[in-house]
Amino acid sequence: MAKKNSERTNDVMVRRSRAGLGLYAARDFSRGETVIEYVGERVRGSHGRDNLYIFRVDHEWDIDGSPRWNTARYINHSCKPNCEAVNDEGRIFIVAKRKISEGEELAYDYGEEYFREYIEPKGCRCIRCHE
Ligand SMILES: [Zn+2]
Repeated sequence: MAKKNSERTNDVMVRRSRAGLGLYAARDFSRGETVIEYVGERVRGSHGRDNLYIFRVDHEWDIDGSPRWNTARYINHSCKPNCEAVNDEGRIFIVAKRKISEGEELAYDYGEEYFREYIEPKGCRCIRCHE
């Protein structure tokens, strides 16, 4: 499973991408494998706060993933992602949806609500919408 010290992992690397910075695979991943955990402070009822890194866990709890040590915050949105966010008893894991090769940019679908609020107004810059 995911390591606690995810910023020290050799599994991923932060690099420049079309949408600012992005997170890239530093090795191959097989389908279903955990790439990284989305970590941060567990906060209650933060909905509506202006924070791009809030990850909805359930109706009550969110994870505030804005600290820099949350390496997963660098993962960009994609409308055709190679990863998905999996909620495992309140912990959020970014899991490979398919085989991922070293050097590929990692992405997951941020969800409809986030997309409508933050991405659509500026235009989506994911690979599917922009190539
Ligand atoms: Zn898109």
